[in-house]
Amino acid sequence: MKNWDVIVIGAGIIGLSLARELRKRSAAVLVLDRGMPGREASHAAAGMLAASPGELPPPLLPLASVSFQLYPEFVHELEIETGMNVDFRNNGALLLTRSPHRGVEPLRPSELCELEPNVVDRGLTGVFLHEASVDPRALVSALLQACKHRGVDTSFGDGVNAVNLTDARVVGVRTEKTTFAAPIVINCAGAWAGQVLPCSFPTRPVKGQMLSLAMPTRDLIRHVIRAPEVYLVPRSDGRLLVGATIEEVGYDKRVDAATIQRMHHAALTLVPALERARLLEDWAGLRPATPDSLPILGPSRIPGYFVATGHFRDGILLTPISALAMAQIISGEPCAYRLEPFSPARFD
Ligand SMILES: Cc1cc2nc3c(=O)[nH]c(=O)nc-3n(C[C@H](O)[C@H](O)[C@H](O)COP(=O)(O)OP(=O)(O)OC[C@H]3O[C@@H](n4cnc5c(N)ncnc54)[C@H](O)[C@@H]3O)c2cc1C
Repeated sequence: MKNWDVIVIGAGIIGLSLARELRKRSAAVLVLDRGMPGREASHAAAGMLAASPGELPPPLLPLASVSFQLYPEFVHELEIETGMNVDFRNNGALLLTRSPHRGVEPLRPSELCELEPNVVDRGLTGVFLHEASVDPRALVSALLQACKHRGVDTSFGDGVNAVNLTDARVVGVRTEKTTFAAPIVINCAGAWAGQVLPCSFPTRPVKGQMLSLAMPTRDLIRHVIRAPEVYLVPRSDGRLLVGATIEEVGYDKRVDAATIQRMHHAALTLVPALERARLLEDWAGLRPATPDSLPILGPSRIPGYFVATGHFRDGILLTPISALAMAQIISGEPCAYRLEPFSPARFD
């Protein structure tokens, strides 16, 4: 039977980026997914890279800020490596609020109008935030391509039931159909991470519904816009994503027509020129949440068993730092980042 150095459970954006980072360090890596790669939360995400204070739980700010800084290089390397475009847009975001945003100079109505001429002034205060966005579906495709190119092994369509132990150490995993051997296993199973035996991590699904529109002109909206009822995320190909709900309804990915209509209507109220925009798609995904809304990153109490999940609303933003920091820890390199607040041990 073939032996790998590392098995990654889950081919979402976290599992794939970590597999690539480990393979860069010459590890023999196998990525397993019970379904198609990258078709869960990572497929549903809007791709906002929202690392501004006020958008994140405070303990996450340092990690999010490093990840944001790593993004341009992460994307550049991946695009060179694969020849694919992941639509990284670094032109900022507009936050529209009913009350002034503390610590940031509000935009004058004329400035807001210049930045986004198609957003109607509804008496909201606007501030400019130095943020970015990326297309998570394109990013997942590029990561998958990079993994294949670098020689990461994959097996899709077979779920992992348990991590196998011998003398209380990891020796591999048991799937529905077979077993795979490796001394190191990393659980990157997103909202399902807690279902893999023997350790159970307190991840839960938080549903988000979204829709996308075809803008009548490509630059009708130029920036990410976060308003009280909805956010808008433009793509360079002329799509506009409108999101998102935050629902505690368990493992339910059904799309509700009335909810989609409500978000669509909120987008039209903000940008009446979207009246002419065609509805392209609607969908729902399950964010991997934890009791303290912080990710779970690091070694578990079982030797050889690691976890990288619970990224909740910020998994796309946190991808570069999660992959890098986890690869450093697993490879025994000094880790330059403080991961104590995210240790799995906080739930023991
Ligand atoms: C509507 C919505 C909007 C979002 N917007 C943003 C945003 O703008 N910016 C941002 O940073 N983040 C955003 N997020 C959050 C982001 O999508 C997630 O944090 C991130 O995708 C998590 O990635 P993951 O790889 O951990 O999980 P997933 O992408 O869910 O991947 C987990 C994988 O594990 C597999 N798996 C599960 N169980 C098993 C098993 N037993 N065996 C084998 N495989 C298994 C699944 O099939 C899946 O492919 C959003 C999420 C949603 C739902």
